[in-house]
Amino acid sequence: MTAIVQSIANAADTEQELTDGFHLVIDALKLNGLTTIYGVPGIPITDFGRMAQAEGIRVLSFRHEQAAGYAASIAGYLTKKPGVCLTVSAPGFLNGLTALAHATTNCFPMILISGSSEREIVDLQQGDYEEMDQLAIAKPLCKAAFRVLHAADIGIAVARAIRAAVSGRPGGVYLDLPAKLFGQVMEAEAGRKSLVKVIDAAPAQLPAPDSIKRALDVLKSAKKPLIILGKGAAYAQADEAVKALVEKSGIPFLPMSMAKGLLPDTHPLCAGAARSTVLKDSDVVMLIGARLNWLLSHGKGKSWGDAPKKFIQIDIEPKEMDSNVEIVAPVVGDIGSCVAALLDGMGSNWQAAPAEWTGSVAKKREENVAKMAPRLMNNNSPMDYHGALGVLRTIIKERPDAILVNEGANTLDLARGIIDMYQPRKRIDVGTWGIMGIGMGYCIAAAIETGKPVLAVEGDSAFGFSGMEVETICRYNLPVCIVVFNNDGIYRGTDVNAVGDDPAPTVFVKGSRYDKMMEAFGGVGINATSPDELKRAVNAAMDSGKPTLINAVIDPAAGSESGRIGNLNPQSVLKKKK
Ligand code: ADP
Ligand code: MG
Repeated sequence: MTAIVQSIANAADTEQELTDGFHLVIDALKLNGLTTIYGVPGIPITDFGRMAQAEGIRVLSFRHEQAAGYAASIAGYLTKKPGVCLTVSAPGFLNGLTALAHATTNCFPMILISGSSEREIVDLQQGDYEEMDQLAIAKPLCKAAFRVLHAADIGIAVARAIRAAVSGRPGGVYLDLPAKLFGQVMEAEAGRKSLVKVIDAAPAQLPAPDSIKRALDVLKSAKKPLIILGKGAAYAQADEAVKALVEKSGIPFLPMSMAKGLLPDTHPLCAGAARSTVLKDSDVVMLIGARLNWLLSHGKGKSWGDAPKKFIQIDIEPKEMDSNVEIVAPVVGDIGSCVAALLDGMGSNWQAAPAEWTGSVAKKREENVAKMAPRLMNNNSPMDYHGALGVLRTIIKERPDAILVNEGANTLDLARGIIDMYQPRKRIDVGTWGIMGIGMGYCIAAAIETGKPVLAVEGDSAFGFSGMEVETICRYNLPVCIVVFNNDGIYRGTDVNAVGDDPAPTVFVKGSRYDKMMEAFGGVGINATSPDELKRAVNAAMDSGKPTLINAVIDPAAGSESGRIGNLNPQSVLKKKK
């Protein structure tokens, strides 16, 4: 349906079709296949949301812009099209901005569209309703930022926003739409002509043949090669090519958190359960869509061992090379094209990685898996992490197409290690920043974008950042099962305040019943005190597809400070004052 807002007959009986800013934005999004909006209504975009819905766009209203923004960011990751978040001016914009920065940091394509106040008043700082120079504030936190002042420029602005979000290294884009723009009227035919359908939004970027040859020469010389797969490799959706490269080269692979499942964690070459061994002992490391940032100890130091290492890196962003250590073979291009070129260059008689190395990695992995197995089978009540996660591990094994959302500290670190993934892009989590609060937005977008059942494994603290969105989940009746690992606090629920009556900063109300929150909105709430109860409740939720929240009672003493990254907490060297 085209957006004809009005037909005005003039005195001479000629008719002129008109359109306006509202409809041009809607038409521009639809023309480019952007048919879902995550947002929160309010001035000046309330009517825009209504009209977008009337024109066939799916408009999902959240309770807080940050959760809507996280939803848009992960929609971008899952679909390779920019996820769209829509907010009101100043405070709504700022709430969405955290998510836009998160999208940029994680290389997810996203567009934050915010309404803004009168330019003339904002620029003279005369105190408008929700006055803020949003464009200036957004700029340093995203990949690109644009403002549109004339309805005739909407088509170009949306096209630029899409291109900026998805081409090269993907990221977040801000689009500033002042209130006055929406009502601007123009002739409909001219409006239609002003729209741009973006052709080849993310063009293939072919690697230089020299860079492929160099990388293969380094690989050939390796005695103990390792492939590290990052979420860039999962994002690229070059699943078959990546699998072929791993299998043809016979090189053990280590998946980063969100790359788990790109190849199954149970694949004979998966080194996930031998992580510290392969980082230490490998001699050549090929990074595919993974950065050598803090999550990989910057490619140096104790966890990488003493033996000299050579790094090959495949990435679409040339500036990523040498960011932390020397990259002896940089391969710049999109992952699909780079991996295809490597496979091509390997020819038909490529020598697979030395069996001595792959055998020792497999042995280490099996030892570690066997060591963990009995702990995952305990039926303790209250539960410990291993008992509860052992159950969820089996559930994902039986339902490999479900999407797993995961955030928290101990709940995150242990779930990442324990729950095997079997299919690409099924695990979505806190990402590069280790951000808390992504959970509910991710659940909603995952259900909407994929149509698959969603299982969220949430620390009680992490859940609290966006817990109100359970209402949103119930309102849209989404197949989401949330398990809150309730240990009464942040890291542990056992801290005490040594000097006064206030609770210690890391503890919550003891014995909270998060399940009641879901019941308040018509969803299913269950309190689970043992792994057996947890298993029954999750299976029932996944079978029924009804919005469900399970309060999983975890021993408050079971966790450790900051999960696996307690070393990042600064410690005081001063003695405690008496
Ligand atoms: P992880 O945290 O899983 O290690 P990172 O977010 O650190 O992953 O790294 C992802 C990398 O993937 C980024 O450097 C990004 O530039 C790169 N990337 C994203 N999409 C593509 C693509 N289609 N082709 C090549 N590289 C990509
Ligand atoms: Mg906790």
